[in-house]
Amino acid sequence: MSVFVSGATGFIAQHIVDQLLEQDYKVIASARTEAKANELSKNFNNPNLTTVVTGDMSKLDAFDPAFKQYGSQIKYVIHAASPVTFEVENTERDILIPAVNGTKGILESIKKYAANTVERIVMTSSVAAISTFSESLDPKAFANEDSWNTYTWESAQVSPIDAYFGSKKFAEEYFWEFLEKNKDTLNIKASTVMPVFVFGPQMFDSSVKSKLNVSSEVINKLIHTPVDGKISPSLAKFIHVKDVAKAHVLAMQKDELIGKRLLLSEANYNSQDILNYLNNDFPVLKGKIPVGEPDQTAEGKPSKDITYDNSKSRELLGFKFRSLKQAVDDTAAQVLKHEGRI
Ligand code: NDP
Repeated sequence: MSVFVSGATGFIAQHIVDQLLEQDYKVIASARTEAKANELSKNFNNPNLTTVVTGDMSKLDAFDPAFKQYGSQIKYVIHAASPVTFEVENTERDILIPAVNGTKGILESIKKYAANTVERIVMTSSVAAISTFSESLDPKAFANEDSWNTYTWESAQVSPIDAYFGSKKFAEEYFWEFLEKNKDTLNIKASTVMPVFVFGPQMFDSSVKSKLNVSSEVINKLIHTPVDGKISPSLAKFIHVKDVAKAHVLAMQKDELIGKRLLLSEANYNSQDILNYLNNDFPVLKGKIPVGEPDQTAEGKPSKDITYDNSKSRELLGFKFRSLKQAVDDTAAQVLKHEGRI
């Protein structure tokens, strides 16, 4: 039996696919376009990987052909596809609708074509689902695995970042409600994974481009800031991409994780923490990027933005998350190698 992974061309999903193949699962991976599906097949070069093309998942039947063809083989679904972009013309059309319709669509396709075969489903939600954007910056704010943000469809359209936060809430809310409403016909056990900023290497060196996916770009930008340049401010929490992938795989395997929302966060970071690791661990960057103020770090200090309590998720998952140093070093080593600088 196979695992269906949606949005498999994404930064996080490629690591999920890798860990699944590593554990000898057969994987059916969806891509938006034929070209991206072909690139994924070429990069993994693994007979246990099959790719399918969905087109834009704003179309509610985007997943129908895939489930019609492979539904009888699919036991697990990992739904990772969602727009992660803030450069949009229309927040409703480009962020909210694809996120929600993608979730509606995949659930309806399962119901139509794989109701008797799918047993477990894991959805990639986000910490964005549990607070508003402004709360996420507020040192007095607090959230945990039970929290939900308060966006309405209208208030989420104010800016792309609000739309992203809203999209994750609306899609995840729909997910739990659909499974609850259909529990008599669908016997599917579900979990969601809610990561903070995800750092770490691209799955394949060939995916390194001058601009990376939204979260990896935080580190990439600092690697390319000139020594006298302005340091882009960033203050949040991070988690390593390999730990995010591992949590998805465990969520489809471990019964203790059924029905849980898993909040993945290792520690606070700011731009200075990243600069310190870049300057200390990569001699090639010394004198090329800013030093900043090395003692103005966030790691290991009380939070200056929202506080998350993810103690329940850590205990349930039962593995130690990778450090910020490892996440920064893994990302930078890949970028610098790609540029021929190390
Ligand atoms: P990526 O942008 O790398 O991956 C997103 C994936 O979704 C891609 O495969 C993309 O396809 C697909 N997708 C987006 N919009 C559509 C659409 N309209 N139709 C079909 N496919 C679409 O982002 P990440 O890997 O970072 O994110 C993956 C998941 O993790 C998302 O659900 C995101 O919300 C969540 N997440 C990410 C965090 C992070 O810091 N990176 C933090 C918390 C949650 P294509 O390649 O064609 O664009």
